[in-house]
Amino acid sequence: MSGKVYLVGAGPGDPELLTLKALRLLRSADVVLHDALVTDEILRLARPHALLIDVGKRAGRHRLTQSEINQKMIEAARWANVVVRLKGGDPLIFGRAAEEMSALRDAGIEFEVVPGITAAIAAAAQACIPLTNRGSASSITFVTAHCTEGGYPIPFEKIAASGGTVAVYMPGGRYSEISREVIAAGVAAETPCLIVSNACRENQQLLWTDLGNLPSIVPPDAPALLIIGEVVRCRDTSVAAAALLLQSETVHAFG
Ligand code: SAH
Repeated sequence: MSGKVYLVGAGPGDPELLTLKALRLLRSADVVLHDALVTDEILRLARPHALLIDVGKRAGRHRLTQSEINQKMIEAARWANVVVRLKGGDPLIFGRAAEEMSALRDAGIEFEVVPGITAAIAAAAQACIPLTNRGSASSITFVTAHCTEGGYPIPFEKIAASGGTVAVYMPGGRYSEISREVIAAGVAAETPCLIVSNACRENQQLLWTDLGNLPSIVPPDAPALLIIGEVVRCRDTSVAAAALLLQSETVHAFG
């Protein structure tokens, strides 16, 4: 008999943004395998005797390979009743969930997915901007700027033609490259952009700029997310003013 594995979304970092189900599972888990993105405040909600395993991988210093993570998860389920695989944001967005679910299926282990608040939603909420807006954005596309070898290029032409909002996960330091590619795909250089670093954490930073000025920003700390689109113009002026005060040297005003 094996235990059950729960692929749980931890949200962006603030424990109050966990779902009640995520909290209940964390409090009952025998084993918690978590990513680097999961904050300590959230990990402290686990039972005192739970086994916490950090399987976090950060670009450049990979600790465990994906198949080692899968293996650890399967081993845990062989002896523990409740195994929580805790991931930053939502487990199904840029979270290698397909590989983990397939490994669990192959091993005959029961699993369930518990959604979490993904970074783009959290970032927009913190900035008080919508992600869709009547008349200016009827779609939102989640893309990753981090393409592994054999990965796929971002279809910026299609995105530009759609005129919708783009949320770029894992921008790394590639703001110049992203700006160049998006402008080359036909998006106006005046299109507003917002970078939210450490959304919903104590060290959150908001950086307002536009596509043309994106290459000249000082890249904020990771994790950071870039939102491109007219929706960024709907910013709450008080939030924008606070960001300007904090970031005066890196913020570029627009429109
Ligand atoms: N599954 C996660 C995404 C994992 S990919 C989710 O749904 O949010 C990791 C990327 O997510 C980071 O490089 C960054 O772009 C974004 N991210 C995650 N947490 C974030 C946070 N608190 N603030 C800003 N960006 C975040």
